[in-house]
Amino acid sequence: MKKLRLHVLAFSSVLLPLAGLSGNEANPDAIELAPLPLPVEFTSDMDNPVAFDASTKVVVDCPDAAAAGWLAAHFAEWYGKFAPKVQLATFNANFPTNAEAYAVKVDAAGVKIAARTLAGVRWAAYSIRQLVIAKRGIFKTEGHLLPTLSISDAPHLAFRCVHICWMPEMRKEQIERAIRLAALMKFNYAILEPWGMYRSEKHPWWGWPEGKMTKAEVRRLVAIGNDLGITLIPQIAAYGHAGAGRSCTLKNSVLDLQPEYEPLFEPGGWNWCLANPETQRVLRELIVEMLGDFGNPPYIHLGCDEAQPPTCPECRKRPYGELVCEHIANLAAFTKEHGARAMIWHDMLLDRDDPRWKGYVKCGSKLTATLADTLPKDVIICDWQYSYGDMKETRKDWPTMAYFKEKGFPVAGCPWRNYNAMKPMADFIAEIGGFGIIETTWHHLRGNDWVKMFRYGSSAAWGTPVRKGMPQYDSEFAIALRLVGHDMKVKDYRDTGHVDYQVPPSWWIDN
Ligand SMILES: [Zn+2]
Repeated sequence: MKKLRLHVLAFSSVLLPLAGLSGNEANPDAIELAPLPLPVEFTSDMDNPVAFDASTKVVVDCPDAAAAGWLAAHFAEWYGKFAPKVQLATFNANFPTNAEAYAVKVDAAGVKIAARTLAGVRWAAYSIRQLVIAKRGIFKTEGHLLPTLSISDAPHLAFRCVHICWMPEMRKEQIERAIRLAALMKFNYAILEPWGMYRSEKHPWWGWPEGKMTKAEVRRLVAIGNDLGITLIPQIAAYGHAGAGRSCTLKNSVLDLQPEYEPLFEPGGWNWCLANPETQRVLRELIVEMLGDFGNPPYIHLGCDEAQPPTCPECRKRPYGELVCEHIANLAAFTKEHGARAMIWHDMLLDRDDPRWKGYVKCGSKLTATLADTLPKDVIICDWQYSYGDMKETRKDWPTMAYFKEKGFPVAGCPWRNYNAMKPMADFIAEIGGFGIIETTWHHLRGNDWVKMFRYGSSAAWGTPVRKGMPQYDSEFAIALRLVGHDMKVKDYRDTGHVDYQVPPSWWIDN
């Protein structure tokens, strides 16, 4: 069997057997593409490749006037003098209702792309780019080949997001690689959490000295994201996690070096002091500054996870649930006035003693759980369910997400490294009409965890299973990551592969 053929019914969790992917018996086929398309039809035949070079005509049917120019510019960037020609034409494409859907047809006559929007054209281009290989039998690249193929593809969920943490230990190149790779894997949003790295002009004390997340760098990354089709969303931990440090490290990016700002925080420094009016002032000024740097995005994440009981006399005067609700509701109303809907983590909204949530992540008390009744319903609840104790657990029901949906909130599922649960979680979100998927990565954006978080996360959000068994290790991830490196023109050894060093430098000394 020469043709590699995969049929999946759009918006169905039913997948016909992947055994159909095998190619000729001597040489099994490979699709080095992530995420796999969720097609009406997807056929690909690498045993009958066609030229993809300066002689190729790529005909684009897209009502968006920017699409053909975007495609031509990026083909020129990716393929240089071997770039195919782009031509806008109408071939009576039957555009699907999904704004991000696209169709690609590759045969001896050339390449055809149909999409209703620039977003669809981008996803088509990224699918093509991952499937392109250099011409064979020569010393250096002189044009490319594509398998003959036919794709009709559309995403399962409209909001497909990665949550990227700019830890102080991370270089700016690592952040850019993650954003570019997320776009290539068809995520369309990325939340960027600063962890003390944001360099505020209004409040230069907020964070570690010499933070790498400067205004210029943020604006540069936002512009890259806008070009590539991934919208960057800022984050401010506006309740707990106020010191922007991991709880297990006891680091506080403000108080460790600048004790004079103690009144803004609860004694101990984990929560902001919510009773202090200066806290609201500072947070509002930071929100305005960040939204400006991020180019006024449609959302802002306010954190709010893992908060602790109040310890200062002012915060303890009132029921804490009331104070917390007032604080978050005020900030959410404020961000909305500035054009950005607030997102918060879910855990304080669930009473940890409520038997309904047994086995699910919940960190709140009876008081903070009242927020689920009092918060404005347009706040997006980011429900992180990591299946503590068994990260390999496969779950199909997500009662906490159903609960928030029933309460009237838009709810996003956040699976982190809960790989086996990602697809069922995304399917569940789609079924209940939820908001989307946020693939949290925390301090694991390196090594195999990075590979799996992006492969499983992007596939779940797009609606397709992860291809098991890569032909040459994790080559589908490697190809995408290498393309990102080429786009960035990386020269540093550490900016290749998914780890800085193949052998940790200390080993040479210790062993
Ligand atoms: Zn206080």
